[in-house]
Amino acid sequence: MNYFSLNKKAPNVDFKTATILGQAPDKGLYFPERIPVLDADFFNNIENISNEEIAYKVIAPYVGNTIPEAELRRIVKETIDFPLPLVTINENISSLELFHGPTLAFKDIGARFMSRCLGYFSKERSEKVTVLVATSGDTGGAVANGFYDVPGVEVVILYPSGKVSDVQEKQMTTLGKNIHALEISGNFDDCQALVKQAFADDDLTKKLFLTSANSINVARWLPQQFYYFFAWKQWADKKNPPVISVPSGNFGNICAGLLAHKSGLPVKHFIAACNANDVVTRFLQTEKYEPRQAVATLSNAMDVGSPSNFVRILELFQHKFTDLKDKISSTSITDDETVATIKKVYATDKYLLDPHGAVGYISLEQYLQQHSSDKGFILETAHPVKFNDSVEKITGEKINMDVPANGPKKTVKMNPDYKELVEFLEKK
Ligand SMILES: *Cc1c(COP(=O)(O)O)cnc(C)c1O
Repeated sequence: MNYFSLNKKAPNVDFKTATILGQAPDKGLYFPERIPVLDADFFNNIENISNEEIAYKVIAPYVGNTIPEAELRRIVKETIDFPLPLVTINENISSLELFHGPTLAFKDIGARFMSRCLGYFSKERSEKVTVLVATSGDTGGAVANGFYDVPGVEVVILYPSGKVSDVQEKQMTTLGKNIHALEISGNFDDCQALVKQAFADDDLTKKLFLTSANSINVARWLPQQFYYFFAWKQWADKKNPPVISVPSGNFGNICAGLLAHKSGLPVKHFIAACNANDVVTRFLQTEKYEPRQAVATLSNAMDVGSPSNFVRILELFQHKFTDLKDKISSTSITDDETVATIKKVYATDKYLLDPHGAVGYISLEQYLQQHSSDKGFILETAHPVKFNDSVEKITGEKINMDVPANGPKKTVKMNPDYKELVEFLEKK
C-alpha cells in the first residue's frame, strides 16, 4: 500500500516513509491510495475472532511489506493489551471506554502503535530519531508513555507551564530516560510555534533527524480504527447498527471511524460532537469552512480552531457535500450543557462522564430524540479522573482512584525562545 499527499505535490511513499516523515514534503497529509474492504465472513464471524486478530486484519493491508507479519502481530498485541469495553449507560446509550490504557485517554492506542512502528524502523537505521511534540495536555502523556525506553528514539515534549492538569503533568515529566519534558513559560501556541520553527529549520534538520508524533501521522491515525471494530463485536443488535458519537477536536478519531465504515463496518450514522469550537458544525450547515482561533472550554483536548484531519474527511467523501451530510451530523455544546450532562447522567444512571464524553453524550441524546428507532454509543475518550478538578466540583464527590506516578517531576524550564530550544536539542 502506498500513500499520496493530499496536496498532490510530493511523491507517493510506503507506510514506513509516511510514518518516519509524518507530513509529506509539500506539507500535505498522507492518505492511502486505496481503502481495503473486509469480506462478509469477517463481519458475520466477528464475535468469534480475537481482538488481536481483528486488529491485525484491519491494519495489515495498510502496513504492507514494511513490517514482517510476526513483528506486526507483536506490535498490535502490545498496542491493545488493555480492556476496551462497550458499557451500557441506559437503554439507548452505551459508552465505548477508551481510557483503560496507561495514560487514561484514547490517545494511548495511536501512540503505542506509532512508537512501536518507529522503534522497529529505527532499528534498521544508524541515526537516532528525535520525536518533537507540543502538547496542551493529553498528547504529551500518551507519547511519553508510548515511546518510553524505545531504543534509537529520543522524545522531547514542550508543554505550557502551569496550564496542564496535575495528572497530565505527572504523566509526561516523571518517566526520565529517553523522555525529556520542556516546561515553557508561555501558552500552547508558543510551544506549537517553537516546534514548527524547528521542523522548518534546515540547519537543524541536517544535524538531527526530527519527526512529529501528532495525530496527522498515519501510524497514529490508522490504528484508531481498531476499537470501532471491537465495538461492533460487542454490539448486541446486529440488525440495527449503532449511531456513533465522537467527541472531536482535531478530527483524527472520527476520521478513523469513517475509514473503518468505508472498509465495510456497519454504522448507521456518525456524530461529530464538538464544544464551542464549532468550525465543522458550521461547515455542515453552510458548506463554508472557516478556521478560527480556538476558545478555551472544559473539554480542553477539543479546543481546536482548525482541525488538521478535516481534509482527510473531505477526501473520504470525494468532496461530495451531500454524501458527507448524509453520514455525519455535528453539534456544538456549551460548557453549561456539559456540566448539566455530567450531573444528570451521574444522578440518573450512576455513570460518571468526563467533560469530553459528556459532549458526546448530549449530542447523541439529542440525535436519538429525533430518531427514536435508533440506538448508539459514545466514545468515552478520557477517564474523568484526568479532569478531577472540574468533575469533582460538578458531582460534589471525590473520584477514588490513584493515578500512578513514576517518580519525581523532572523538567527543563525554558522561555519561549528558539535559540534555547536549539541548544537543548543539540546537546541532549
Ligand atoms: C485528543 C482528544 C480528543 C479529540 O480527538 P481528535 O482525534 O483530535 O478529534 C477528545 N477527547 C480527548 C480526551 C482527547 O484527549
